[in-house]
Amino acid sequence: MSVPSDRADGVAAALADRDCDALLVTGLVNVRWLTGFTGSNAAALVGRDGARLFATDFRYLTVSAEQVPDGWDRIIHQDLLEAIVDRLGPEVGRLGFDDAQMSVREHRRLAEIAGDDVVLVPAGGLVEERRARKDRHELQRIAAAALLADAALTEVIEAGIVGRTERDVALDLEVAMRRLGAEGVSFPPIVAAGPHGALPHAEPRDVAIPPDTLVVIDWGAQLDGYASDCTRTFATGELSAHDAGVYDLVLRAQETSLDAVRAGRLGREVDAVARDIIDAAGHRDHFGHGLGHGVGLEVHEGPRLSRLGETALEPSMVVTVEPGVYVPGVVGVRIEDLVVVTDGEPEVLSSLPKTLRVVR
Ligand code: ZN
Ligand code: ZN
Repeated sequence: MSVPSDRADGVAAALADRDCDALLVTGLVNVRWLTGFTGSNAAALVGRDGARLFATDFRYLTVSAEQVPDGWDRIIHQDLLEAIVDRLGPEVGRLGFDDAQMSVREHRRLAEIAGDDVVLVPAGGLVEERRARKDRHELQRIAAAALLADAALTEVIEAGIVGRTERDVALDLEVAMRRLGAEGVSFPPIVAAGPHGALPHAEPRDVAIPPDTLVVIDWGAQLDGYASDCTRTFATGELSAHDAGVYDLVLRAQETSLDAVRAGRLGREVDAVARDIIDAAGHRDHFGHGLGHGVGLEVHEGPRLSRLGETALEPSMVVTVEPGVYVPGVVGVRIEDLVVVTDGEPEVLSSLPKTLRVVR
């Protein structure tokens, strides 16, 4: 299915706000979102006047013909910047470029090729802002990726995890997702037992998972280009009162902040709901990351739900809600759901239960 043309039309309509006549899109994920092209070398241009240019190199002659919809002028050329700038009409006096992605070297070259008649205007984030709201097809793909990832995890934990190494369980999870049809993982899975779980980005070790502790598993699948992201924390037997208390706290923070996800709320307002609960329980210093992030073609994208989240949530945004408590040297708990923002209750795409589950 080809990408709907309203994506490029929306970008074109936003150009006036950024005081640009056209936008040069060089980030591959943005190019993919606009055109559907999945290769590793491409650039695109969206003009206010309706210009739609797509450039790639000879290796992608056939693939780009299949993937890029008819509305785009397709150029096959070794030098993408030159290919696009050469075709700029005289009406493009102000050319937007992605200052968040373009290298200094590329920018210098672009300025040389464009010459004195074209002013280069920093316009980073313009496409990303629009990517934050998902269309129906994107929502279907993200939901499918989440379901696939959940099925893979269910398969892996049913086989048992105690006594196996974190690395072995993580690898199993990757293989299970691939076998179920994923293109790959959306990020390398985290499997972290006991005190190791207190590292939010723990790397799985060659260390056996012991009984009677907590294990954080954070994983996601990449399916049809779209990512999923979910975390569950499991008990491997009897827990200490301390560890059980931390789990209950994080669950309460997660469920309460999840319920606060509504169109119109700012990212930082939703973040504060979880943070206040964790702070009040005496764990202020143990929740050092933001509450959540957007998910789409990339596993981390806008909007952010953090102290710095000034973006108001809108219907059809997809975000995670993932508070955690990390007690250094002792234990860590994180619980993460992937949800779609609506005007009412968020639609939760993660299907696995959150009540504490014992897995041996
Ligand atoms: Zn995650
Ligand atoms: Zn996440």
